[in-house]
Amino acid sequence: MEAKPKREWCWIMKPQSYEMTCDLCGGSNLEWSEFDHMIWCYDCQKDTPGKGGLFDGPIPLHLCLELGFSFDRINIATGKRLYLHEDNDHCEWKEEPANNALAADPKPRRSVEIVPATEG
Ligand SMILES: [Zn+2]
Repeated sequence: MEAKPKREWCWIMKPQSYEMTCDLCGGSNLEWSEFDHMIWCYDCQKDTPGKGGLFDGPIPLHLCLELGFSFDRINIATGKRLYLHEDNDHCEWKEEPANNALAADPKPRRSVEIVPATEG
């Protein structure tokens, strides 16, 4: 067996949340694999590259953030969240949240209706 490089981080959302599917069964019962550039399919019980999803092409970052996707990462060794910092098309991930609004937790845009409590 060839040695596969282990992941040092994974994305904060699950693979299927980025619209990835299993390239073997087409399913979306997925988790990030312990190996780099791989996903784990619960249905196939296999590490596989997966396919599709946002990472297939150039990511329209701002649009995706608007839509509620997060591109923060988890440092697997420490379990800490690494926040996306974007600087002139250059992305870095740091333990501190960035000051700009883009790196803040993306909030779902769907508005929640707040019904005022009726008194009496
Ligand atoms: Zn599968």
